[in-house]
Amino acid sequence: MSLIDFTPNGMHVAAAGVHIDPWRAVDRAIITHAHSDHARAGMGSYLCQTQSVPILKHRLGNDIVVEGIPYGEVREVNGVRFSFHPAGHVIGSAQVRVEHKGEVWVASGDYKTTDDGITPPFEPVRCNTFITECTFGLPVYTWESQNIIFKEINEWWRANAAVGITSIISAYSLGKAQRVIANVDPSIGPILTHGAVEACNVAIKAAGVPLPHTIQLTPNTEKQLIKGALVVAPGSAMGTPWANKLRPFSTASASGWMQIRGWRRRSGVDRGFALSDHADWPGLNAAVKATGAQRVIATHGYTHQFSRWLNEQGIEATTEETAFTGDEAVTATETEGSS
Ligand SMILES: [Zn+2]
Ligand SMILES: [Zn+2]
Repeated sequence: MSLIDFTPNGMHVAAAGVHIDPWRAVDRAIITHAHSDHARAGMGSYLCQTQSVPILKHRLGNDIVVEGIPYGEVREVNGVRFSFHPAGHVIGSAQVRVEHKGEVWVASGDYKTTDDGITPPFEPVRCNTFITECTFGLPVYTWESQNIIFKEINEWWRANAAVGITSIISAYSLGKAQRVIANVDPSIGPILTHGAVEACNVAIKAAGVPLPHTIQLTPNTEKQLIKGALVVAPGSAMGTPWANKLRPFSTASASGWMQIRGWRRRSGVDRGFALSDHADWPGLNAAVKATGAQRVIATHGYTHQFSRWLNEQGIEATTEETAFTGDEAVTATETEGSS
């Protein structure tokens, strides 16, 4: 038995009787962040970072039993010490540090190593064993700085607005959407939101994070307002009658997959902006190095490629099968619930 075991229910800390991001119903769950593949319904109780509480309630219902503790605060369960540390992925996201009898493991959940301007930036935590995602664990996934990406998004929006065309950008409703809203140039025009995005905005504001002014798009929204606006919508809304009412428009997707030209064509959008809430190849490598871990376990994404690479670098690395799937919009028709 290890400090953390991979079981049919999820990552199990047997010494404490606790699961981290479980994918089947268990009594006590510790949650890294509120994306649907990490935070599932049906747990007896939830423990998460403070800012995640309203977001988790928004996603799973107000009646869940949930407690939040701030980053860095230690919660001891049966002599096992748990604490949350910024993962830089989305608001409220945390790495879980688990310490028992002098051994330290860190379960990173999802993370990115660059500062997005609204999420507390990633903080490396020293550990013996580091459990990492590697959604983008190939060298081809190396991100441009977000300043450059947002300059491109602003230019696209400004050019559309100048000729009275609506700009619709597809962005994951929790995390990416708020990152887009917080970083675009609001002097270009109004920022309109799909209902799913606006609902996440409300939860995130309740977590104490201010966001720029947005207006939820409804059937009553004035045509004049829509012309030249930036509309932020989940991938699942693209290509639907909801979106088609906004014609004439230009469409875009903000996702790490947009790094690969074929993905943009496949997702049927006019423009692709490679903006990811996951670590890129240099980020994954830097994160592993900064933990000083002797052992790495890769859980989702390019696990085999990344662990092979680490082994070649002299770091013992293995993979584990999990129910985590990654949360970057891939295609226009993809639904968020299953992604
Ligand atoms: Zn995530
Ligand atoms: Zn994930």
